[in-house]
Amino acid sequence: MIYERTIRNPVECTGIGLHSGANVRLRILPASPGTGIVFRRTDLDNFEVEAVSRNVAKVSYATSLMKQGVLISTTEHLLSACVGVGLDNAVVELDNLELPILDGSAQPFIDMISAAGLRQQRRKRTYLKILRPYEMREGDKTIGVYPADNYTVSYSINFPHPLIGQETFKVGLSNGSYVEQIAAARTFGFLEQQQAMLNMGLIRGASRENCVVLTRHGLDNGPLRFPDEFVRHKVLDLIGDLALFGKRILGYVKADRAGHAMHTAIVSRVLRDPSCWEEITLDKFAASRFPEEHLSAVAD
Ligand SMILES: [Zn+2]
Repeated sequence: MIYERTIRNPVECTGIGLHSGANVRLRILPASPGTGIVFRRTDLDNFEVEAVSRNVAKVSYATSLMKQGVLISTTEHLLSACVGVGLDNAVVELDNLELPILDGSAQPFIDMISAAGLRQQRRKRTYLKILRPYEMREGDKTIGVYPADNYTVSYSINFPHPLIGQETFKVGLSNGSYVEQIAAARTFGFLEQQQAMLNMGLIRGASRENCVVLTRHGLDNGPLRFPDEFVRHKVLDLIGDLALFGKRILGYVKADRAGHAMHTAIVSRVLRDPSCWEEITLDKFAASRFPEEHLSAVAD
């Protein structure tokens, strides 16, 4: 895929925000080449917030963007889906501050985009090619980016819970692997932490329909979609946060027990260090060596 792509037709859904609990209507619209993903608050005079690192706001349990005081919350699952299917340019309209959580995964967004179809545009996609390793460490959490010929992501987690423990998942984003292996993995949370998070003003929209709920010893709302659904969801979140590079990556990203704050921090730091990367476009020969995402509904 050496050319940028947009969505073929507008598509929409409604739902509630995971943290705000607010009802929201979301529409994905086609956009011209070079636009990237731009959020538009239809309830605030169509104010636009670009999905790029410089607009990252507070980041703790979800990734939020802010520009001139206008907030867009919990962006990571939709942005992850866009990267996963190779959707470069779109306007995403919202009539509230938080994206809908839907089923807690990226699958509903994949289904929407798939139903609408993708259209190839005339502009060549610009890639951010990683030139040298860059690593961050915070206690026992690490994240690093490394040179590679395609876009590969690896994640390790270690939760002291009988269903999780140590899990690692590595995936190359090519040949539909995102749609098959990552998109359906859902958000998860621990019942024990529910009240503390509610007290912090979080997860007001959480339910058994949009979140895998873990009890002290097991699962409150099984079955899991994958035995290692938890680490796959962390991969999903990481891909969504790395979308804030604003360009598709040619490189390998490896994270161990990181979180949204470290994901977005490394994007910002790498972008500030021009020795780490260069922008390239692919010619047909090079593209043949970089098998990419595909979506069956795509028509050129
Ligand atoms: Zn998530």
